[in-house]
Amino acid sequence: MGNNNYPFKLIPLPYAYDALEPFIDKQTMQLHHDKHLQTYVSNLNEALNNYPQFHHWTLEQLIYYSNQLPKTIRRAVINNGGGIYNHNLFFAGLQNGGQMNSASAPNLIKAINSRFGSFDAFKDEFKKHATSVFGSGYTWLVAEKCGNIQIVNTKNQDTVIPYNLFPIILIDIWEHAYYLKYHNIRSDYVDNFLKILNPTQAESNFNKILT
Ligand code: MN
Repeated sequence: MGNNNYPFKLIPLPYAYDALEPFIDKQTMQLHHDKHLQTYVSNLNEALNNYPQFHHWTLEQLIYYSNQLPKTIRRAVINNGGGIYNHNLFFAGLQNGGQMNSASAPNLIKAINSRFGSFDAFKDEFKKHATSVFGSGYTWLVAEKCGNIQIVNTKNQDTVIPYNLFPIILIDIWEHAYYLKYHNIRSDYVDNFLKILNPTQAESNFNKILT
């Protein structure tokens, strides 16, 4: 996910548009990936078009070192670069039928049990955060380099990159992520999101801090 630079391309969904039914509907996935994410990709490329000195920078570098970008494009890069980074992580983190447990995600479940007491207690806490975001943003399970894990919220298309936090699980709580199916009932969307976590992806994200 991180080896990319200008011109950025739309990464295909790693499954069919209807693969997450009935938890996330096909039309939402089509719009979310083909329209919303495509717009972030197009807008980031447009912002960088006239700045060849940044064409070899990765998405993570553009976000982490955004204070080195000209002011004229800084906000566009943060918003649209963040949009790409967040959505690629979000889509990769979902799997219909994924069973998160100590067999599928041993290191992560151990850390979750140690921090929250149990996986169910983690889900309760995650849901509290996700339902409390005011406006658009994300709720994340993140790790510090030392291995401590915590739940945090971010606004808009902000990422956790500037805080030196490593993403493990994230939920998109912009209304475009759920409104067609769930309307204003965000809590049902969060409950169903937690049923379709991709354990292999989450474990792999967590293990990156151990290497
Ligand atoms: Mn989104």
